[in-house]
Amino acid sequence: MIGEQYLLLPGPTPLPEQIIRAMSRSMINHRGPAFHELLFEVTAGIRSIYKTQGNVLIYPSSGTGVMEAAVANFINPGDRVLAISTGVFGDRFASIAAAFGGQVEKISVPWGQAADPQVVRERIRQDTDKNIKAVLVSHNETSTGVVNNIASIAEALGDHPALLIVDTVSGLAAHPFNMDEWRVDVAASGSQKAFMIPPGLGFLAFNDRALKIHKQINNSRFYWDVSTGLDYLQKGQTPTTPAISLFYGLQEALRMMAEEGLDNIIKRHAFYRDLIRSGVEALGLELLAQGEAASCSVTSVIAPPQIGANKICTAMLQQFNIVLAGGQQSLQDVIFRIGHLGYVRELDLLAILAALEIILYKLGCPVELGAGVEVAQQRILQNHDQITG
Ligand SMILES: *Cc1c(COP(=O)(O)O)cnc(C)c1O
Repeated sequence: MIGEQYLLLPGPTPLPEQIIRAMSRSMINHRGPAFHELLFEVTAGIRSIYKTQGNVLIYPSSGTGVMEAAVANFINPGDRVLAISTGVFGDRFASIAAAFGGQVEKISVPWGQAADPQVVRERIRQDTDKNIKAVLVSHNETSTGVVNNIASIAEALGDHPALLIVDTVSGLAAHPFNMDEWRVDVAASGSQKAFMIPPGLGFLAFNDRALKIHKQINNSRFYWDVSTGLDYLQKGQTPTTPAISLFYGLQEALRMMAEEGLDNIIKRHAFYRDLIRSGVEALGLELLAQGEAASCSVTSVIAPPQIGANKICTAMLQQFNIVLAGGQQSLQDVIFRIGHLGYVRELDLLAILAALEIILYKLGCPVELGAGVEVAQQRILQNHDQITG
């Protein structure tokens, strides 16, 4: 029997039953008092996850939509934009800025590595005329499984007036993200990554400094205009019809997250990272991201070259109904990615490792059955000892 699938993509992620049930409720008037309350509750919840006292708008959109909103609202055509790219999503942010008329200068980091804040510091120091108006960077680069050190990049900007605009679609709620403390001006995130709800909501956060700059920005926008969004938010509404069902899910998710506690959620993701990485390494496989650069939401594993990543993903799906992600672009067939963000349990990860051992063994890899699982079990035992004191 094959049963339900194990969805271990870096989004969309599995959903808890209580969130699925919450989303099945009837519609309400989105201009009425019940929706006001719902909107205020979830907006406050997202603000607390971003750790900001600033502005938050929730859009019916995928993550890319709010990245576009970040560009259209805060960057003028002709503005010089420094885009730090560590992979597919960093490139995407640069492309969006270029599509809206930005003069994009890209710092391209080799795939699998994190951006070096020193390089950013150097480039910023050279910009004595303050021509750079915005710095774009991904927090967690999902295509490579690399997390960038946003605190250090923010620090590298010093008192340069460029806006720091961060794509934290797959980073938020899986890694620490202290928007106000780090001095991030604009941040974009989405619902289908660490939030345990389906795709379809984008979360745009921006501080008052960004809002002031926004008033001078004349890039084209209508749907994404944050001034309109803020006007409606004051009335407890959204400019257009909101995705009410997803709001129900988000409300439930934020309540679950408040109950677990953000610090515990972030610790749990770091533990999943360590669990999967040590398990995979015990099988003799190599990891793409090293050390501090290793993501807490997705792990990129380098497939044995004689087999290739695609064969492994296909076999995992066919034999165990386990859905893993492949590599993108130049990493296609080179890596496979194990998502471990949102609603994931230790047992899921033990199951993945056990299945991976079987698949590698059958594909002719010299693995010792049980080696990865045992390392993971030891880690779980240690972790439980720590928790139970
Ligand atoms: C998933 C993701 C996005 C947004 O993707 P959508 O498909 O538009 O939701 C953007 N950036 C990163 C880093 C992501 O992981």
